[in-house]
Amino acid sequence: MTNYVVCPDCGYKLLKAGDGSNVEIYCPKCKLKLRIIIKGDEITILKMLSEKV
Ligand SMILES: [Zn+2]
Repeated sequence: MTNYVVCPDCGYKLLKAGDGSNVEIYCPKCKLKLRIIIKGDEITILKMLSEKV
């Protein structure tokens, strides 16, 4: 099963991702950096505005 992941800010279609995906991506439209984690039917989208780890 694949899910379309859209940017939470602008709604841009970022990618298709399947179960178990864990990717970082820049939205080309609003330049937001996102981490996308997919577990089964659950899609988690984290905004990565500041990376101070
Ligand atoms: Zn966006």
